[in-house]
Amino acid sequence: MISDLARPFDEIVRNMDQELQTLASEGKRLIGYFCTYTPVELIHASGFIPVRILGDAGTVEKAYTLTPDFICPYLRKAVEKGLNGSYKCLDGLVQGYTCDAACGVANIWEANMGADPFHILPLPYVDQDESRSFLRSGLEDLAEILKRAGGDFSQERLADSLDIYGRIRTLMSELYEIRYEHRLPLSAEDFLTIVQAGFITAPERYLSMLHDLIDALPETCDPGEGVPILVSGSLIEETKVLRIIEESGGRVVADDLCTGMRNFVPAYGHGSDPMDQLIDRFMNRFPCPSRSSAEYRLPRLLDLMKHSKACAMVFVFQKYCTPHLSDYPFLNDALKDKGIPSIMVELDETGIMEGQLKTRLESFFEMIGW
Ligand code: SF4
Repeated sequence: MISDLARPFDEIVRNMDQELQTLASEGKRLIGYFCTYTPVELIHASGFIPVRILGDAGTVEKAYTLTPDFICPYLRKAVEKGLNGSYKCLDGLVQGYTCDAACGVANIWEANMGADPFHILPLPYVDQDESRSFLRSGLEDLAEILKRAGGDFSQERLADSLDIYGRIRTLMSELYEIRYEHRLPLSAEDFLTIVQAGFITAPERYLSMLHDLIDALPETCDPGEGVPILVSGSLIEETKVLRIIEESGGRVVADDLCTGMRNFVPAYGHGSDPMDQLIDRFMNRFPCPSRSSAEYRLPRLLDLMKHSKACAMVFVFQKYCTPHLSDYPFLNDALKDKGIPSIMVELDETGIMEGQLKTRLESFFEMIGW
C-alpha cells in the first residue's frame, strides 16, 4: 500500500507510457538506458531526457524468441515491454558497459525496437590516470554522437546538468540519512516507487517533487517495528518483494541497489572542469558488482550496516544475474564469519511465490529474535 507521501511518484510510475508520451509531445527527445552507469548528465546536457528502461510485472510472451534463457528477468521483461510498444517514444539508446547481459540486450533492442542514436559506452574498471583519459575520450565520442543526432553539448550545459542531478542526489541522500536514523515515515515499497519515478520523468520536475516530499515529512516519526535490515542486490523493479519483506518482520533501513542508493552516492564529483567532475563521480560511485570485486564491496557494505544500524542482510537477486551471484558466496561467508545473519531471495520472471517466501522470511526474522 503506497502512502500519501509517495502517491505523486506512484502516479508517474503507474502511468509510465503516458508520462513518456507527454514528454515527447512537449518536444522532448528521449534516450533510453538500462544501467545507472550511463552518463545521464551528458545525455541531458546534449538536450535529451534520459529514461531508464524498466521491465514490467506482466507475463513474458514475445521476448522468448529474442533473448536466451540465461538472462535476468528484468532485461527479458524490458524487451517484452519494448516489443509491446511502451518505449516507442524513445529516440535512441545509450548504455554504459556494465554487465554483458544488459549490453547484449542493447543490441537486441536496436535491431528490434530501433534506436537512433545508439551507443554502448566503454567504461574502465580501475581508477588510474589512464582510465580517466580513456573515459574522457569515450564521453567526448558520445557527445559527438549525440551532436550528430541533433544534440547540443557544451561544457556550460554539462555544468548545469551536473548541478541538477547533483541536487537530486543530495536530496535523496538526505532521505537516506533520515532512513538510517530509523525515522523515515516511508515503507521500502514507497521508497522504491520514489526512486523509480526519477528514472522516467524530467529531472527538473523530479527535483521539485523531491522538495515537496521533504517539506511534507513530519518532524517526528515512530521508528516502527521489525528487524532493521540492509537489502543488497541487483535492481528491484517490483515493489512487492519489499512489501513481503516488511510484512514478514523486516524493516528496510538501508539498501545497496541500483534502483536505490548506488544511483545516488556520491552526489557530485570533483575536478577542474565539468567533464572531470562527471568522470570523478563515476570513479567514486558506490560500487556495483558489475564494475568491482566482492573484496572491494565488503567493507563498504559493512560500513553501511554500521551506519544504518542494520542487524541483518537480505540479498535480493535477479535470477541469472552473474555479477551479483558471483559475489554472493564470498559476501555470505564473510557475513557468517562476523555473525551477521543473511538470507537470499531470487527474483524469477514468473513472479514471487508469496506464501513460500513469507514463511522463509518469517522464520529468518524470528531466528534473529530482534
Ligand atoms: S540485474 Fe544483473 S544481469 Fe540484470 S542488468 Fe543488472 S547487473 Fe545485469
